[in-house]
Amino acid sequence: MGKLLVTGGTGLVGTAIDADVKLSTADGDLRNWQQTLELFEHHRPEKVIHCAGKVGGLVGNMNHKGEFFYDNVTINTNVLEAARRVGVKKLVSFLSTCIFPDNVEYPITEKQIHNGEPHHSNYPYAYAKRMLEVQSRAYNEQYGTNYVCVVPTNIYGPNDNFDTKNGHVIPSLIYKCYMAKKNNLDFYVWGTGAPLREFIYSEDVARLSEWAVDNYTDNEPIIFSPSNAISIKEVVNTIAKEFDFKGRIIWETDKPEGQYRKPTDNSKIRTCNPDFVFTEFGKGIRFTIEWFIENIEQGIRGAERKF
Ligand code: GDP
Repeated sequence: MGKLLVTGGTGLVGTAIDADVKLSTADGDLRNWQQTLELFEHHRPEKVIHCAGKVGGLVGNMNHKGEFFYDNVTINTNVLEAARRVGVKKLVSFLSTCIFPDNVEYPITEKQIHNGEPHHSNYPYAYAKRMLEVQSRAYNEQYGTNYVCVVPTNIYGPNDNFDTKNGHVIPSLIYKCYMAKKNNLDFYVWGTGAPLREFIYSEDVARLSEWAVDNYTDNEPIIFSPSNAISIKEVVNTIAKEFDFKGRIIWETDKPEGQYRKPTDNSKIRTCNPDFVFTEFGKGIRFTIEWFIENIEQGIRGAERKF
C-alpha cells in the first residue's frame, strides 16, 4: 500500500515499525535542509512516519533547552517540507503528552494542546513539538496533504536510550538496578516515588502508528495511551522484582520530580481502534529487561552516550 519511510528508524519506536525505508543519523542530518531534501528525493516515499527528534527525560530537557528547541524545530520543519516537495500525501508525526499545558483540565484531551504554557522543565521541547501540529494543519489547508499527529504518553521498550542522566525514567532505572544488583550497591531513585505516569510499550506505539498512517485522517491529533496511571514507586518495585534485587532502594528526594501527574483521555483511540489490546505493564517491563540483558553491550553504550 505505498512505499513507507520512517525517520528515526533506529530509535525506540522506529525500530519496531515495519517499513520499506528506515532513516537513521548514519543516512544524513535532518537538521540540514539540503541533506533532508536529498534523502527524500532519493527515496521518494509515498507515506512517512516521522519519529526522529531530540528527546530526553526530565533532566535531559532541563539541561539542553537550546538544543531541544533548535534540533526539533529544524528537524520537523525540514522533514515536513521535504516530504511535501516530493509529493508525500500522508505523514504521521509524534507529539507527546508532556507538551500539553501545565495548568490543564484533567484528563488531558487532544483539544487542549495549545491552551496554555507547558511545564517550565520542558517548554522548549513542548513549543517545538506544538509547531509540528501547526505545520501539519497549515500544510493540509494550503496543499491538500493529510499530515496527522499522534500523541503517545511515556514510551518505553527495547532500543531505548539507557542513559541515566538524560534518559527517561524506565531505561534509567533498568540500568541503575542492573548495576546495583551486579555490584552489590544501593539502587538510587530520584524523588519520592509519588508521581504518576501513563506508560506505553514501544511495540504498541509502532502498531498504532502503522494503523494511523493508513487509517487516521483528522487534523486534530490523537492520544495513544492505555490510560492507566502507574506511580514511580510501582515502576521501581516492578523493575527490582524482575531483577530479583534485594538490596537497599534510596529515594533521592532532592532530585527533580517534574509534574505530579498528567492523566489522559484515551476515548478517541478506543473508539477509532476498539480491538487494540495494550501490552500489560509488567509484561512490557519484562520484555524490555530481557532485551537489555541480551543486548547489554548496546544497552551500556546507550547509557554512556553523551548529548
Ligand atoms: P517526564 O515524564 O517528562 O517527567 O519524564 P521522565 O521519564 O524523566 O520521568 C520522570 C519521573 O520519574 C520523575 O518524577 C522523576 O523524579 C522520576 N525518576 C525517578 N528516578 C529517575 C531516573 O533515574 N531518571 C529519570 N529520568 N526519572 C526518574
